[in-house]
Order: sequence, then C-alpha cells, then structure tokens
Amino acid sequence: MRKTLYIIGLSTFVFSCTSRQNVKKNTYKPKTPTTQAKPAVQTKPPVAQKPKVVSDHGVDFFTTNIADPTKNDNTASYGSIVSAKPGGYKVVKTFFPAVAQNFRQRYLILHYTALADDKSVTVLTQQAVSAHYLVNNAGDNEIYQLVDENKRAYHAGVSAWRNDKNLNDNSIGIEIVNTGYTTDSTGKRIFAPFSDEQVKKVAALVKDIVTRYQIQPTNVLGHSDIAPTRKQDPGPMFPWKKLYDEYQVGMWYDEAAKQTYLATAQADLAARYNDASFIFLIQTSLQKFGYALDLSGQWDDATKKTIEAFQYHFRPQNYDGIMDAETWAILQALNQKYTVK
Ligand SMILES: [Zn+2]
Repeated sequence: MRKTLYIIGLSTFVFSCTSRQNVKKNTYKPKTPTTQAKPAVQTKPPVAQKPKVVSDHGVDFFTTNIADPTKNDNTASYGSIVSAKPGGYKVVKTFFPAVAQNFRQRYLILHYTALADDKSVTVLTQQAVSAHYLVNNAGDNEIYQLVDENKRAYHAGVSAWRNDKNLNDNSIGIEIVNTGYTTDSTGKRIFAPFSDEQVKKVAALVKDIVTRYQIQPTNVLGHSDIAPTRKQDPGPMFPWKKLYDEYQVGMWYDEAAKQTYLATAQADLAARYNDASFIFLIQTSLQKFGYALDLSGQWDDATKKTIEAFQYHFRPQNYDGIMDAETWAILQALNQKYTVK
C-alpha cells in the first residue's frame, strides 16, 4: 500500500512503476547501472519493428514473416487475423504480434482417397472425414480447399509419430484422388499409379505449405507412416524420392550411406534373423525413426505392417513387410541422417 501511494505520488512518470521497482531490486547489485540503461530501452518505440496490419474488406491481414531464421523455429506469422469482437469494446492490434508464438501446423500428412474424383469430394465434404486439400486427377490447374488451414480436419484418425499422437491436432492433411489398391491372386496389393500432372500439383502444394509453416522434413509423412497397422496410403506408387529430389521436401536417404550399411545388414540378417535381440534392434530402430511400435522382440503382425509402411515410403520396389538387407540398410541410413533432436 505504501509503495502504491509512493508511485502515485510520482504522477509525472506514468511508466516509472516498473523501473522504480527494478531500481529497488537492483540496489542489491551495485555494479549494474540500470538507471541509465532503462531510459534507453524506453525511448526505443517497441511498435517501430512491428509489421503492419492491413485491413481489407473488413478483415485484418498481417503479411510480414517474423520468423527468426537463426532459431530454425517456426515463429513466422502472416495471414488473416481472427479476432474477438467483444460487445462495447475495441480489440487493439497496436502490440500485435508477440514474438513468442509459433504455428500449430507441424505435420503434413499425405493420403489417397481410394475413390474416384466425384465421390472423393462428396465423401470429404459431406461425411465424417475431411482434409484441408483435395488434389483431383482432372488434368486442370485446380486444387480444392475443403478446410481452413487454421482448423482441424479429420484425416489422420488414431495416429502417432515420435512423441506426438492424434496428428489431426497439429497437421495439414492432403487427400490425393487415386483408386488405391486391388489384391491379386497371391494376396499381394497392386496399387494404382499417380499421373505426372497430379504429382506436380501435390508437390507444388506440399512445397508451399512446408515453406510457410517451416515444417521439418521428418514431419512430412504418409498416412501409413502415422498409422501403419491400419493404413496403406498414399502407397508405394507415390514418388517420395521425386518430391525430395526435385522439390526439396520430405526425407530421403543418401545412397552412399545406404551402401556403407548394406554389407553388415546382409550379415546381420543371415546370422540373426530370428534372434529376439535382433528383432528388438529392428523394432527399436523403427521406433527411433518415428513409428509407434511395441518392442516385442518378435516378428509380430504390427512389426510386419510397420516394415511394410516403411517400404511403401522408402523402398517401394518391394513392400512385402519382410525385413531384408536393403530395407535394414535404408532404415539405418535414415536414422543416421535424421537424428532425433
Ligand atoms: Zn488416409
């Protein structure tokens, strides 16, 4: 109470409240000349560095990227600003934006619809599933947006990657029109290809989203990566390597690194294929890479499906779900390259 009265008494210095308190605290540290440093900070108008908020058709936009590239952090911010409109009050954006913020969108998940064009739109707009974008196969230049990027779409379902679960919460979902797979007489899944035009569309869209939200390469994934026991999409025909090579998005292994692992991988598999310790090592490596998997030490169904999902993405020539030397070498090369931070 006494302090309050004291400050009110100094009515000419409205902002002196904080500095007065600091001066008081700093009397315990006689070396720091805070009384000189403080006015210097105050004379620097904090709003000078704030990017402009532009109003257009009654909507405010913030169009400057404030990302700090030195942090490799996703603190960028731009786009329309959604604000409260409390009755009788005005929401002021003078101090917008605060630096301490980042995007909720940290993953990009690719799917195929397993349906034809027209049915895909109906299902994804009228039923209990949705995605932010739908990439048709009509040979035109259109990409359909179905959900606002700031909102949650229902595309991932029960899902996990590394420490994250339920990826609808923090991902952008892209559905690609594709009929999925049929099963041949031996039970092998035969997948439908994607046209070059459609892949270009998907790649341009992915590139745009990944760049704007600074989504890490390790977080650009297929539905089968985040739900390997349930899902196969976008399947082995989706050209992940092309996206990596030509658009610099997503993950891919270095061929040289793979080669260095190949000889020992062959030896491992020949000598220890059914050893619980070896299976445990494979499961641990898949888990380290990102897949949610129980470490059973057995070639159980979940492990087989997870290997199959890994092969869809990184070794699409053969996706039988059986760990072979090439798959094992690729997994190790990827783990070496994309170390968990
Ligand atoms: Zn899916």
